[in-house]
Order: sequence, then C-alpha cells, then structure tokens
Amino acid sequence: TEQTFDVVVVGSGGAGFSAAIEAKEAGKSVAIIEKLPAVGGNTLISGGEMNAPENWVQKNLGITGDSVESYYEDTIKGGDHAANPSLVKIMAEKALESAEWLKDEIHVEFLSDQLFRFGGHSYKRALIPVGHTGAELISKLNAKADELKIPIFLNVKAEKLINNSNGRVIGVKANDKNKKELTFNANNAVVLTTGGFGSNVEMRTKFNKEYDSRYKSTDSVGTTGDGIIMAQEVGAALNNMEYIQTYPIANPKTGMISLLADTRFDGAILINQEGKRFVEELDRRDVISKAILAQTGGYTYQLWNDDIDAISKTKEAHKAEYDELIREKLLVKADTLEEAATFFNIDINNLKDTISKVNMYAKEKDDKDFHHRGGLVSLENGPYYIQKAVPSVHHTMGGLVINEKTEVLNENGEPIPGLYAAGELTGVIQGKNRLGGNAITDIITFGRIAGKQVAN
Ligand code: ADP
Repeated sequence: TEQTFDVVVVGSGGAGFSAAIEAKEAGKSVAIIEKLPAVGGNTLISGGEMNAPENWVQKNLGITGDSVESYYEDTIKGGDHAANPSLVKIMAEKALESAEWLKDEIHVEFLSDQLFRFGGHSYKRALIPVGHTGAELISKLNAKADELKIPIFLNVKAEKLINNSNGRVIGVKANDKNKKELTFNANNAVVLTTGGFGSNVEMRTKFNKEYDSRYKSTDSVGTTGDGIIMAQEVGAALNNMEYIQTYPIANPKTGMISLLADTRFDGAILINQEGKRFVEELDRRDVISKAILAQTGGYTYQLWNDDIDAISKTKEAHKAEYDELIREKLLVKADTLEEAATFFNIDINNLKDTISKVNMYAKEKDDKDFHHRGGLVSLENGPYYIQKAVPSVHHTMGGLVINEKTEVLNENGEPIPGLYAAGELTGVIQGKNRLGGNAITDIITFGRIAGKQVAN
C-alpha cells in the first residue's frame, strides 16, 4: 500500500517528535513511522536532563555567571574539538529557547529547585524533568502529536529511501510487522531521526573494534543505526563513526544505565575493590569509563549516604531500580561502613582511610587527590549505600553530516535534496565525546530546526 504525506519522519524519539510537531504546526501533513511497538527510543529511557545556560531554575537557585559562550566552550572542549563549531554554536544559542518550548508549548514539567551538573560542565545547568527520566518528555510530546492529529505508524520499519532520477529523496519503503511492504511518499522531505547504533554490535565493531560484545548497552533495542545505513545508501557522508561513548555507571548484569547512581552528581564517590578512589567522579564519561576498566575486575563501586541522597532524592525518583539492584545483590544499604564493605568484600581499612580523607577534603573544600569540581560531601553519617557498576555502551557520537539547516550532506559537502536528519544519528555536534545533558538539547533543537526547514 502507498500513502503520501508532505513530510515523513522516521523514528519517534525526541528528535522525531520535535520535527514532526514543527512541520505540522507550519501547515504540512506529517507522518511518523516507528519500528518498535511503542514510541520513545533512547529518549524515553534516558534521564531526560537537558542543558540550557541562563535557565529559569538557575535564577531560582541564585546561580549566576553561566552563559551561552561558557556552554559552547564546555561542549567544544568536551568533544575534543571534533565537533562542527557552527552547529555547536546553534545548539548553545538555542538551548534555552528549546527548553522553554518544551516547558511552555509541550507542557513538560521540570523541577523548579534542582539542576544537575554533569561531568565537564562549568555550571549546574541541566534541567531535570519530573520523575528524572525521559518519560516526561516523550509522554508530553506524544500528547502534543495526538492533539495535532499526527499519525504515528507503530511496528513499521523503514528499510530504504526512495529517490528519483535527479537524486532527490521522495519517500521511504517500509515493512510492517507481517513483512508487508508499505510505501510512504514524501512531497517535501524525509526526516531521519532513527537514533544511534549502540545496540548494533556488528556496526559498533565495524567502526571501532574495542566496542565488541564484551560491552552491554544502555540503549533501546531499536538503536541499530538504520537511518545512518539508509542515508549512506543514497550517498550521505559519515563522520566521527569511531567515537562510541560508554556510560560509566551501568548495571553489570543488564547493561542498563543507572539513574539511581545520579547521586554521583551530588557527591557520591567511586571506589575500587581495594576500597580506594581512583578518578574524579565528575570527570568526562570516557575518562571515568577507562579508569574503571583499569581497576581490579573492570568494575567500580559507587558509595554515598543519605545526606547525599537528600540533595536530589534519587532513591525516591528511581525506586524500581533501587529494589531491583537490592534483589540482584548489586546494591547494599548498611548502617556502618564495615557492614557495607563486608557485603562486597571491599578492603575495610583502605575504605575507612578513603572516607576519612573525603570527610577532611569536604571540610576543607579541597579534594587534594582528584580535585572534585563539585566539591566533596561529608560521608561521616550512615547509613551507607554501595552499588556495583560497569561501563556500558551509551551514545554513538558519529553519524550523518548535516548543515545548519539539518540537510544531509554527501561526500562533496552538498545537500542531498529532500533528505534531512536530526538527533543521535547525526555525527557533527558532540565531537569525540558527548557531555551529559547534551543529547536532549541537541535532539530538540535540531529536531525543531528540521521540522521548520522542511515546511519552508
Ligand atoms: P533521538 O534521541 O535521536 O531522537 P531515539 O533513540 O530517542 O533518538 O529515537 C529513535 C527512534 O527511531 C526509536 O524509537 C527507534 O526505535 C526508531 N527507529 C530506528 N530505526 C528505525 C527504522 N528503521 N524505522 C522506523 N523507526 C526506527
């Protein structure tokens, strides 16, 4: 069967919804196709935090000094200068506008009195959605799409882009779950928003041998690089494909990201089996991941207490994960350090020594060992939590080359007519390493740009 829309959006994560909503609001007929039985992609299962300099919560908290320039600099530096500066500039300049769009137009609720400061950032600037996950974003984006009557075709997998004799992309060939072929014609454009390739082990190892099946992934099963492959088949250029990010603190059994462990942003420390700290807890994800893999057994323990938990109330926000980790014996809560250390057979004398140093550094506001940029927090009072964790493949920085209009470029740097892309499948915004809280800013900002462009 064949259907025709002005704009066909492939993928229903944050980028796809943003593009579809903008295009529809500009008067175009729009369809979203999604290969899984449910919408949301990685956006749904992420923490959902979003960097925006000079945001309203910073004002509420009296945080001054942040700026678009500072955010731009942090992102460029965090990506080892491998990102396209003009696109990073757009993201930095539009970050606040994107956040306000989510808040005011999409009715996403952000906490009004808390922010995260992810590794590599000069300020606390990441807005936190209620519930501390992307579910708040996706449910509200989905509601907006429903209100606008944008059809969402679930269980429909895009397989191939259709182009005409001039090389213009004019539609998508797809399969439904019974392998029946469907054709989606696009009068104006196809927008690819299919996410990264973290769940595709073969594709990971093709571009970087390190990230083979030894690594689990935090990603949705749908994150298999489909859009990158389809675009490449019509001549799209690829960039930075070898840069694959592991999230340092994930479940050793499933590879799932640990959001409970967001206590790290409020002062939880990382120790090894010997009971010693080995890295600055707010360093970049790649640096922490490498450091963890170099420890005994290639894992870490994260340690915190209730004073730290009280800052963002992470335990309450991620109760289901907490219960699962306790059940799986990957987390222990104990009144004393001895008891907690015994559970995991951690060297108690070293651990006591580590904790007394942390307490001293917290008092002196000077972490003499690892220069913790957020300032350490006292661990004098129990109860203590110790959680076992490993790095897991999380975000693929590389992908399609887009320009300021989100047009997909070929090897000669020319736009492929009719083809646009936004979100994790693009490879020009995060450089070699994505800073925490930057994915949501990226996907919403460029998703919206794509939606407006295709409606031009
Ligand atoms: P982003 O953060 O860039 O928006 P997400 O991972 O949140 O990316 O969303 C990407 C979505 O695209 C997922 O829901 C995924 O299942 C979907 N998707 C991936 N490949 C295809 C495909 N071939 N056809 C349709 N949908 C796809």
